[in-house]
Amino acid sequence: MDLAEYKGIYVIAEQFEGKLRNVSFELLGQARVLADTIGDEVGAILIGKDVKPLAQDLIAHGAHKVYVYDDPKLENYNTTAYAKVICDFFHEEKPNVFLVGATNIGRDLGPRIANSLQTGLTADCTGLAVDDDGKTIVWTRPALGGNIMAEIICPDNRPQMGTVRPNVFKKPEADPNAKGEVIEKTANLSDADFMTKFVELIKMGGEGIKIEEADVIVSGGRGMNGPEPFTGMLKDLADVLGGAVGASRAAVDAGWIDALHQVGQTGKTVGPKIYIACGISGAIQHLAGMSGSDCVIAINKDEDAPIFKVCDYGIVGDAFKIVPLLTAAIKKIKG
Ligand SMILES: Cc1cc2nc3c(=O)[nH]c(=O)nc-3n(C[C@H](O)[C@H](O)[C@H](O)COP(=O)(O)OP(=O)(O)OC[C@H]3O[C@@H](n4cnc5c(N)ncnc54)[C@H](O)[C@@H]3O)c2cc1C
Repeated sequence: MDLAEYKGIYVIAEQFEGKLRNVSFELLGQARVLADTIGDEVGAILIGKDVKPLAQDLIAHGAHKVYVYDDPKLENYNTTAYAKVICDFFHEEKPNVFLVGATNIGRDLGPRIANSLQTGLTADCTGLAVDDDGKTIVWTRPALGGNIMAEIICPDNRPQMGTVRPNVFKKPEADPNAKGEVIEKTANLSDADFMTKFVELIKMGGEGIKIEEADVIVSGGRGMNGPEPFTGMLKDLADVLGGAVGASRAAVDAGWIDALHQVGQTGKTVGPKIYIACGISGAIQHLAGMSGSDCVIAINKDEDAPIFKVCDYGIVGDAFKIVPLLTAAIKKIKG
């Protein structure tokens, strides 16, 4: 493999029902940083039905080129068909790097592509950089329960691949005047490439803001003592702030709230403007999911709780007293 033939940092753009996922923009921003260091271009690969209009938004967020596979057959995500499209793309365009969001779809797609192309994949990365040689990507990911950070490289194979956690990198500002090229591609697929069949889409988690997308998260832990605060006190505070309710694993394991709300290493990684941790001790596995928050506010009875080491504002006290007072005060300010 002549490594010099492989060029371009490519983001596999993820869309759902005609809307680009935030992680696609976060990856473009980071791809741009890597590309500027290497002296390379950023490409996006966009797959779906009627998705061409989304290409401009990818350009506005940092893509120099957008390759569009717009095909009715690709309306719903399909592991084998999408992987075939991307592997064919690789053989035609010879990319150096593929960045994939570590979403349910990306975690399914990434390993299949890497295996088909016989290349290296680092899963669930939280850091991306360029090695001293100026061309190899250094993929950083937490390992062994978040106790070590592993730096992994793929020196001999291309593309260099990684899935990257959502909400680790900030979404770049859109530049409406950004110019880029939109290239229409044709997916070469036969029925045999669709090894799974889409039957029905069932939406989970009900209505309301998802924690991955929320600007404010009010999270509860074991200190909440039961399920009620998650639909009562914590939700009231989240509602006045236009946010969502999160939880520690202890709260989820106790059955107080659905696992879709779990923040942390085995839950979601979130990056809100404000994260309010109520009755959460601040275990390393929890911090792994929320330390990218702009501002952390901790409410805990124990002044020695580790969460106070990472918070911007801390209140030592009983969350059952403090949270309702906070909600009332914010309501008053908002009028
Ligand atoms: C492999 C692995 C993966 C994991 N993944 C995750 C993960 O994704 N997310 C996660 O959260 N954890 C995860 N954990 C578990 C993690 O190690 C902790 O056990 C967990 O985060 C503890 O949750 P907690 O802070 O709610 O509970 P505790 O650690 O029990 O803390 C409860 C806190 O509430 C405070 N408190 C009690 N009553 C009140 C009150 N009335 N007002 C204010 N404060 C009060 C206490 O002082 C205490 O600090 C993982 C563990 C392992 C081993």
